[in-house]
Amino acid sequence: MAKSSRSKKSAKKKASAQETLRRRLAEQRKEILSLYEHDLRVGQEASDEGSEDIVDRANNSYNREFMFALSDTERQILLEIDEAIVRLDEGTYGSCLNCEQSIPKLRLRAVPWARYCIDCQERAEQGMVLES
Ligand SMILES: [Zn+2]
Repeated sequence: MAKSSRSKKSAKKKASAQETLRRRLAEQRKEILSLYEHDLRVGQEASDEGSEDIVDRANNSYNREFMFALSDTERQILLEIDEAIVRLDEGTYGSCLNCEQSIPKLRLRAVPWARYCIDCQERAEQGMVLES
């Protein structure tokens, strides 16, 4: 009895930890997006001095330019955050996508959207891990 109520409690704790993580990932995602939306708006205002035609064109291609404004790294992180949220839903979060070992908590705290353990991450950066 005591044992079952204890495991119930830890399951609950795990669920709330996941919620915290999900929130953290969502916030991180929003932060990256708003940072670049802001940058882009500032860039557009700077070009307002030109003809209206230029402004119209800028508005039409807003989304395209927004994606251009993101650096490869930021785009990659957004992608990895989205994937991490999917893994949270699937219950595979925290496992290395390559060797399936648990990713150390310290690493997840630093990089909550980490896909690989440190060893595999190094290999991935050297192009030695085949992405599925
Ligand atoms: Zn690994």
